[in-house]
Amino acid sequence: MISIAGFVVYKSHSSMVKTKSAAAPVENKVSTKQVKSNNNNSNSASNNVEKTKSSAPVTNSSPEVKKKIIVIDPGHADRSNLEKEPLSPGSSEMKIKDGGGAEGVATKTPEYSVNMSVSMKLKALLESEGYTVKMTKTKSSESLGNVERAEVGNKENADLVIRIHADSSDSSKVSGASMLVPEPINENTRNINEKSMYYGKTILNTLVSEVGMNNRGVVQRNDMTGFNWSKVPVVLVEMGFLSNPQEDKLLCSDEYQNKLAQGLCHGIKAAVK
Ligand SMILES: [Zn+2]
Repeated sequence: MISIAGFVVYKSHSSMVKTKSAAAPVENKVSTKQVKSNNNNSNSASNNVEKTKSSAPVTNSSPEVKKKIIVIDPGHADRSNLEKEPLSPGSSEMKIKDGGGAEGVATKTPEYSVNMSVSMKLKALLESEGYTVKMTKTKSSESLGNVERAEVGNKENADLVIRIHADSSDSSKVSGASMLVPEPINENTRNINEKSMYYGKTILNTLVSEVGMNNRGVVQRNDMTGFNWSKVPVVLVEMGFLSNPQEDKLLCSDEYQNKLAQGLCHGIKAAVK
C-alpha cells in the first residue's frame, strides 16, 4: 500500500488515523493520470525473449551479451519508520520514510511479509531466465527510506526497478492489480517516465491476464519519494487488495504467490529486452 500525497495513512486493527503533512495538498488534487490499459495484448509473454545462459561458453568472435539488471524492492518492513526525507532532490517538502503497510483483513498477514515472499520468488525466476537481480533488502527487519531504496537502482544502473506491494482500501469489495509509475515532474522523472510507462503497462497487462484478475490500470504519481529520486526506470506493482477477504487469502497462499511471481517474470521478459 502506498499512502496518498500529503497524507500518511496508519492502519491499526480498529481505527484509521490520517495525519496531514506540512504541505497538506488536497487528496483529490494529486495529479494522477489514469491511463487506460489494454487488456488485449495476449501474445506478450512468449515471444522474443533474450535468453542469456550463464553456463554457455562465450565464443571469441561474438561480444559478450551484458545481462540485464533488475532491482527488486520489497515494500515496507516489520515496523514503520517515521523519520523524514525530501520528497524530491532539492525539495523542501519532507515525507516520512515508511508509514507501514497494509494488513490482511481476514488472515491478519502484514503486507511486508507478502511483499518479501513474492519478491524472493520473482528473484529466483528472473535469475533462472538469465537476469542479474539485486535486492534493495532481503530481510523484513531492514527498514529502509525511499531515497535509500532509489539509490540501489541508481548505483546498479538498473534496467528496471520493480517495487513490490499489496494494496488496501476502505471497501472490502475492491480487488485487482494496478501499476504506479513516476510522473515527469523533475529532471530524474522526465528522463525515466516514458520507459517506466511502457514497462509498467506491459508488466501489468501480462500479470493480470496470466493470474486472471481485475486490471486497475497504470497510474502516474508525483508524490512518491522512491520515484522522484530514481534515475533509472521504475514501476511499483500493487498485486491485489489485502482489504478484500478473498484476495487476502489468495495473496497469502504459496500457490498464488507463485502465480504472481510467474506473471511478473513473464511481464518483465516481455518488457525489458
Ligand atoms: Zn505497500
